[in-house]
Amino acid sequence: MRAIVTCECCGHRQAVARPIGQPESFHVVCHECEGVLKVEVTAHDLSVAERSAGGPRKARV
Ligand SMILES: [Zn+2]
Repeated sequence: MRAIVTCECCGHRQAVARPIGQPESFHVVCHECEGVLKVEVTAHDLSVAERSAGGPRKARV
C-alpha cells in the first residue's frame, strides 16, 4: 500500500515514498515544515487499503 501522511504541525499531506507491505512504524520528515512525523501502519490499515484497491485479484477461468 501507499500511505498518505498528514503533518500534525502544518497539515501538509504527503505520500510515503516507499510501498508498505507489512505492519510497521517509521518516521518521515514533512516536506513543508520539516517536522518529524511518526507513521504507524497496522495490519488493519493494510487490509483496508487492499480492499479499497479492489482486493486480491482472482484469475477468471
Ligand atoms: Zn509539516
